[in-house]
Amino acid sequence: MEGAGGGAEWRLALWTLCSVLLPVLITLWCSLQRARRQLLIRDIFRSSKHDWRYTDLFGQPSYCCVCGQPVLRGAFCRCCGRRAGEGCLKRAERRFPCKETVARSGRAPAAMPHHWIRGNVPLCSHCWVCTQQCGTQPKLCDYRCVWCQNTVHDECMQNSLKNEECTFGEFRDLIIPPYYLSAVNQMRKDKRTDYEKIVPYCRKHWIPIIILTNTRSGNNMGETLLGEFKILLNPVQVFDLSKIAPAKALQLCTLLPCNAVRVLVCGGDGTVGWVLDAIDEMKIKGQERYIPQVAILPLGTGNDLSNTLGWGAGYAGEISVEQILRNVMEADGIKLDRWKVQVTNKGYYNLRKPKVFTMNNYFSIGPDALMALNFHAHREKTPSLFSSRIINKAVYFFYGTKDCLVQECKDLNKKVELELDGERIELPNLEGIIVLNIGYWGGGCRLWEGMGDEPYPLARHDDGLLEVVGVYGSFHCAQIQVKLANPVRLGQAHTVRLILKSSKMPMQVDGEPWAQGPCTVTITHKTHALMLYHSGEQTDDDASSVSEQEHVREQTDEDV
Ligand SMILES: [Zn+2]
Ligand SMILES: [Zn+2]
Ligand SMILES: [Zn+2]
Ligand SMILES: [Zn+2]
Repeated sequence: MEGAGGGAEWRLALWTLCSVLLPVLITLWCSLQRARRQLLIRDIFRSSKHDWRYTDLFGQPSYCCVCGQPVLRGAFCRCCGRRAGEGCLKRAERRFPCKETVARSGRAPAAMPHHWIRGNVPLCSHCWVCTQQCGTQPKLCDYRCVWCQNTVHDECMQNSLKNEECTFGEFRDLIIPPYYLSAVNQMRKDKRTDYEKIVPYCRKHWIPIIILTNTRSGNNMGETLLGEFKILLNPVQVFDLSKIAPAKALQLCTLLPCNAVRVLVCGGDGTVGWVLDAIDEMKIKGQERYIPQVAILPLGTGNDLSNTLGWGAGYAGEISVEQILRNVMEADGIKLDRWKVQVTNKGYYNLRKPKVFTMNNYFSIGPDALMALNFHAHREKTPSLFSSRIINKAVYFFYGTKDCLVQECKDLNKKVELELDGERIELPNLEGIIVLNIGYWGGGCRLWEGMGDEPYPLARHDDGLLEVVGVYGSFHCAQIQVKLANPVRLGQAHTVRLILKSSKMPMQVDGEPWAQGPCTVTITHKTHALMLYHSGEQTDDDASSVSEQEHVREQTDEDV
């Protein structure tokens, strides 16, 4: 009896041990395999001529370019679009060349054959020869040219197509051809800079584009866009601003024809300001004739500058990358005023150098700067909470009303003096003053126009004039945001001077807030930036931001 009982206990112990140990061992083995795999892949990636990106799951049916088998896990090249299974990666690397960004010398300039790669053609593509749909068969089939993006069936592919000159497809006016760069290289060796001579080899209406993407803004959107632009254009004209500063990237302009280049900035208003600063540096360096025009693809939310220039407040994939490029091609050039904001501390601190900012959007003192200050402080503490735009709006709104109770900015009119073009302005009982360069403020709100009927001069962003308005408090700010109230129009001016006589106040320039003691703030015109204005139909994004505003308004109605 005893022996049998002992056996049962033993068995129980064994089973318990197994049920605990086995999962641990399996997990350990899996993670070991994974680490080994990643090491192998990293080795291939490091010395690769392709721009491989690893994925655990392809977004669409994919076939390995080496063995032709369907693959779920593997890598895709962000330049040529090739896909390979994990096991075939090494062979893919050895066997296939990537998109040739700079033509090897010795090739006749101005002509280049197609570069066809087989398989994984876009699902909605059509054959160039027979116009029937391409890439519908569940296997590695059909061809795509990495430059012109034309697709051809296996059975329609002829030798003539293989030797035919590639015309670079729909975006030929934006692409920097590889032979252009090799010709420029040759000229540089000969110490010549008349690159215009090479242009006829390209095209008459050539407006080469440079893409500057901030991969840190807008969740993962920047990263995705970077890859899509590299596939459609020459990868050398697509830059990742987390790896290279705009000033360096923009030096590509000096290798391109004067006054022809367009830059597309993918990022928030802050990124746009960063790029515009780099362009101002080009002026200082005497590179004025190479200065590009700037278009915006807004990432993140509430981008007022981008919204003012017709590019929407935030892009979340509503339109295709191809459509974005078409919009940039069609956009018209306009000027944007840029302003110098100089903050000189009073009294003892006078010895210190004044703080100088460059302003594109707006300067403010009072509740909306305080909101930004609180918002920033809390975002720093819990960044994960702030990834959703709806939550962002809600939190912003919450801080607005909370500070309404605190009333930190009370009696602003007794603490500051305001001068517009040297003339002292009598202030009503205000808590905040906002100085605007552009039409939108606070994430999509038109401040100067408001909804009042009284006549007023129009606000423009290229007339060398600032619009100055006052707000009664943060609750008033919130009401203005949902179009339930209007700000107080204080006037327009070429120069704004604001003297803070006592106490500490929140201030902000273009959404960058800080707490400021007694000082004099002087805002004067600095320079013009050459921007591109998108005047096409409203994008879906505009519609969504309007509906979001409606949503907020509904909520407040319920609250009231
Ligand atoms: Zn394979
Ligand atoms: Zn490649
Ligand atoms: Zn082609
Ligand atoms: Zn065909």
